[in-house]
Amino acid sequence: MMYARVIVDVAAGQINKPFDYAIPDELSHLIRPGMRVIVPFGPRKIQGFVWKVAESTDVPNVKPIADVLDPHPVLTSELLELGEWLAKETVCFLITAFQSMIPAAIRAKSKKILQLNSENDQLPPVLQVLFQGKHKVEWDKVPKEKGTLSLVKQALEKNIMEVVYEVKDKTRKKTIPAVKLSREVRDQSLLDVLDSRAKKQYAVLDYMRNHSDGKSVPIQRVMEDLAVTRQVIRTLIQKNLLIEEELESYRDPYENREFHTFPRPALTEGQTNVLEPIVQSLEKKEHVPFLLRGVTGSGKTEIYLRAIERVIKTGKEAIVLVPEISLTPQMVERFKGRFGSKVAVLHSALSSGEKYDEWRKIHRKEVQVAVGARSAVFAPFENLGLLIIDEEHEGSYKQEDHPRYHARQVALWRGKYHGCPVIMGSATPSLESYARAKRGVYRLLELPERVNNTALPPVHITDMRTELKKGNRSVFSEILLEKLKDRLQKNEQSVLFLNRRGYSTFIMCRDCGYTAECPHCEITLTYHHNDRKIKCHYCGYEEILPSLCPECHSDQIRFFGTGTQKVEQELTKLLPEARVIRMDVDTTSRKGSHEKLLTSFGRGEADILLGTQMIAKGLDFPKITLAGILAADTMLHLPDFRASERTFQLLTQVSGRAGRDKLAGEVVIQTYTPDHYSIQYAKHHDYEAFMLEEMGQRKQGGYPPYYYLALVTIAHEDVVQVMKTAEKIASYLKNSLSPETKVLGPTVSPIARIKDRYRYQCMIKYRNEPNLTDILNQIAARYQKEMAADKFFISIDMNPQMFM
Ligand code: ADP
Ligand code: ZN
Ligand code: ZN
Repeated sequence: MMYARVIVDVAAGQINKPFDYAIPDELSHLIRPGMRVIVPFGPRKIQGFVWKVAESTDVPNVKPIADVLDPHPVLTSELLELGEWLAKETVCFLITAFQSMIPAAIRAKSKKILQLNSENDQLPPVLQVLFQGKHKVEWDKVPKEKGTLSLVKQALEKNIMEVVYEVKDKTRKKTIPAVKLSREVRDQSLLDVLDSRAKKQYAVLDYMRNHSDGKSVPIQRVMEDLAVTRQVIRTLIQKNLLIEEELESYRDPYENREFHTFPRPALTEGQTNVLEPIVQSLEKKEHVPFLLRGVTGSGKTEIYLRAIERVIKTGKEAIVLVPEISLTPQMVERFKGRFGSKVAVLHSALSSGEKYDEWRKIHRKEVQVAVGARSAVFAPFENLGLLIIDEEHEGSYKQEDHPRYHARQVALWRGKYHGCPVIMGSATPSLESYARAKRGVYRLLELPERVNNTALPPVHITDMRTELKKGNRSVFSEILLEKLKDRLQKNEQSVLFLNRRGYSTFIMCRDCGYTAECPHCEITLTYHHNDRKIKCHYCGYEEILPSLCPECHSDQIRFFGTGTQKVEQELTKLLPEARVIRMDVDTTSRKGSHEKLLTSFGRGEADILLGTQMIAKGLDFPKITLAGILAADTMLHLPDFRASERTFQLLTQVSGRAGRDKLAGEVVIQTYTPDHYSIQYAKHHDYEAFMLEEMGQRKQGGYPPYYYLALVTIAHEDVVQVMKTAEKIASYLKNSLSPETKVLGPTVSPIARIKDRYRYQCMIKYRNEPNLTDILNQIAARYQKEMAADKFFISIDMNPQMFM
């Protein structure tokens, strides 16, 4: 008898341990680690992942596995191991870690289907009966008995059939008409089946023989390749020489785009020098973490492409991570343009069906490159040769929900596992990474100059306090407005950047000072112009904009703050001739709209691109010669020790949009704190000086990279309960950790209440605390029952990126 150690999917109990189940005889050939199964658990049947297969068990009266969901493992042995590590490091459940590595589509309810890849008569008779003229059979209809199942397994291994998940998705699976050769033609000379005068028919059959390898080919393609009409193919089908079929096509979100082969420029000397050590480590199969610091426009992406080229040549695979917002069509085009169909693209704008299709290309080894946002780091490649993290400093690489992992941390783990290099690239590496590079933990590579040697753009700082004194109440300083006009005249383009973080439009009564707050969270509601509602960004609460103040019934209730809409209105007033494209959550919520707006701007259909964070990165348009930053300090005052670093990074990124080509660029930064060091160093493009000063600040404050942080947040509806529990957890931590470690708090969280729960937090600052994750895991386990009962909410965040 064989046994399976299964990680079950329940949210209560002592969860991080596996449960043993007997593998029934009929499933014994099938079950492998990494498959999902259905098992009895108490009175219910639930899902779980087979973690290990063992020959014995200590559990008396083990129950048998009820069913198997994946005839192929969805998690590789590497990913199982990674999940285990991740669960411990990020203090989450194993099941959560595993679930996060597979696409949502197969997590959700989906139909499993056996699909025939070749002719019915290739199957053993038992299965022929099962299929009987169909080419798909639902997995549920397959008799779960030993004989049948082992035949299924063999057929799967021989690729005579495969398992597909039919996702109940709005985008239906697409099929296209195709043809293949009938058996008759395959085994005979063409002249035996055709009249030699039927030249076109002959050509088609000949083509099919030489090109199709017995597989079906889309009719459209045959017609195009041979310049024959549909009638020729129809005749062959009527003669039973060709067989008509529906070919499943992947839902390819990029299918109607043409990807021009992307030029492959000769490398500059700087690029050659940087590529060299990367290639060496590829060849030596060495795990080297590289930190590639290259100013904006220095050709980092070209380095990635060259390194990937090498990896593909050796038959290995590469993962490229880019932040969600810079996963623009332009970016995708560069990879697809160079590597064509060898690339799968994973990002959140895809429907779950599309995402699953892309994942499946990876799973089935049909592609060698995965380009995607954070979760693409779990791409199920088994032969990784390289991992790349572009814009490695980006906060979005940290997942703010369980498992709270950082993609960089996972990429480094996988790089080590596969013995391959990891490239972390950025114009403004995070201070933590830069410090590691300085200490020799990462190898530092630098590209200090732009590819075409264009200078970094000069930066003007305007003090908005002076503008106010001069009586200028507009959001535009005089100098910015002047420069915008100048670009309009010269027919050049400008980008205007408005930082939305920590800066939102709220409504206030001018008579009594009333501001609208969320009734469930301690946070002001944000005004949305589109539907004239005020909304809570934390819990989703919304209400119609009141026309009278609820407190004093005055009609002087107005919205304040600067939103992109308001800036746009002002632009239209000041520069009525300017064509403006606005990009923010409101204008880009529909699928594909992001891409459309950018393409339109790229074609020169607008003079000014006005937007939020989403325009800070990745734009590479030659006609942009002016970048304006409307409010540089909005982020500086957030309760976050990375505020200065983030400000510096953002200013540098936005500046990098201007003057990337032959036309020289310029930058205007508007600020109320012109002397702040992050603004001053950004003005001078002086990354190293900024880092030096920031290091000093961090040392003083006891922050990373001098200390590691862990944040424990406790939330409950009853404020007394929260305080008590937070006290208890804090004193437990203080007693269990070393005296050098600081446990700060409990204190009220910066947002004191979210979704009707009061929030308290403890911050742990430590240098060396080998048992910390064990201790935190104990705490999580201790409060597991209360959390499952939905009473307490305890979140543990290792290396937190957000402090709200
Ligand atoms: P980064 O990723 O560092 O911002 P990119 O790789 O996007 O820089 O390069 C900036 C621009 O220079 C792109 O338009 C790119 O096609 C071009 N480029 C990169 N390398 C070269 C090269 N060796 N010769 C000519 N042009 C190059
Ligand atoms: Zn009022
Ligand atoms: Zn709320």
